[in-house]
Amino acid sequence: MNRAEEILEPGRAAAPGAIARAASTAELEELRRQFLGKGGYAARATEAIKDLEPPERATAGRAVSEFKELVERSLEDRAAALEPESGAGGGGLDLTGGGHGVRRGHLHLVTQIQRELEDIFIGLGYRVAEGPEVEDDWHNFEALNIPPAHPARSMQDTLYVRLGEPEQVVLRTHTSPVQIRTMEANEPPIYVVAPGRTYRNETLDARHSPVFHQIECLAVDRGITLADLFGTIETFVKQLFDDESLRTRFRSDFFPYTEPSAELAVSCIFCHGSGCRVCSQSGWIELGGCGMVDPNVFVAVGYDPEEWQGFAFGFGLERIAMIRYGIDEIRTFFDGDIRFLAQY
Ligand SMILES: [Zn+2]
Repeated sequence: MNRAEEILEPGRAAAPGAIARAASTAELEELRRQFLGKGGYAARATEAIKDLEPPERATAGRAVSEFKELVERSLEDRAAALEPESGAGGGGLDLTGGGHGVRRGHLHLVTQIQRELEDIFIGLGYRVAEGPEVEDDWHNFEALNIPPAHPARSMQDTLYVRLGEPEQVVLRTHTSPVQIRTMEANEPPIYVVAPGRTYRNETLDARHSPVFHQIECLAVDRGITLADLFGTIETFVKQLFDDESLRTRFRSDFFPYTEPSAELAVSCIFCHGSGCRVCSQSGWIELGGCGMVDPNVFVAVGYDPEEWQGFAFGFGLERIAMIRYGIDEIRTFFDGDIRFLAQY
C-alpha cells in the first residue's frame, strides 16, 4: 500500500456508513466537503501522488478515482432516499406532498342552460332541431314574413356575409330560420325546439353582445290555439325555475312571423311580485316573445293555413342564466375568464 492509499484508507472505510446515516441534504453537503473537498481525503491523497515513484502513481491515481466514485455514488443514493422528507426546499421532487391537484372542467354555463331547456322540452314531447349559423335571406327573413323593404329588418342589426344579388347571405339573426327549414323538410304535425348561436351587429357592452344564444319552440298541428301557447309556456317556466307559484304575463307585441304576438314575462323569481332590484321594482321579468304562427309563414313553406295552426316562442339563453344567477354583464359569458365560469 503506497502513501496515497494509506491516506484514503480511513475515508474508504468511513464514507459509506457516514453518508448512509446522514439525515439531511445539508449533512450530505458537509460529508461531501469532508471526503472530496479541500483538505479532504481525496485531495490529500492526490497531493501525495506526486511524491510517489512513477510506477506507483498509476495505481494511486486509480485508487483516488475509485474513492471519489464510491463517495459520489453513496451521496447520490442517500440524497435520493432523503428527497421525500426534504420537499421542495431541498430542490427534489416531493412525491408525498400532495401536489396542486387536477381540476375537472365542466360545460359552459350557456351549454348547461341549453341542455336543461332541451330536457324540459323533450319531456313535453318536442324534439331538438338544428340549422346552419350562416343563412340565406329566404330562411332568415323572407320566409318569416320579413320581405326586403320591411321595417322589421331594421330591428335586427344583421351581419352580412354576402350582400345583394343573386342572394344575400347573413349570419343568422335568430334561430327562427330553423323553423322554416324544419317545416320545409317535414309535414305537420311538428313539435320542435331550436337552440343555437345567433349574431347581431352589436358592440359588446354590459347588455349587448354580437354573439348570443336563443332557444325557440315551434308547434304546428290542427286546432292549436292561444290557450295551448299560454299553457305550454306556463308549464315550461314552472319547470325551468322550479317554482309552482310562478305566474306568467302576456302583453301585446309585434313580430312579423306571428299574429297575434305577445311579450312574455314571469313573476319575479326573487321577490314573487313585490318588487326588487332584479325586476326593477316591477315584480315582473321579461323573458322573450311568443305568438301564433303567421299564416304567411305557412304559405311560404307550403302549408295550408286553413288546415294548420301553430305557435312559436323564444328567448335568449344568456338572459335565462342572468336572471337565475343574478349575473348583470352579458360579456362575462364570452370573455372566457375561468374565475367566472368555474362558479357555475
Ligand atoms: Zn323582483
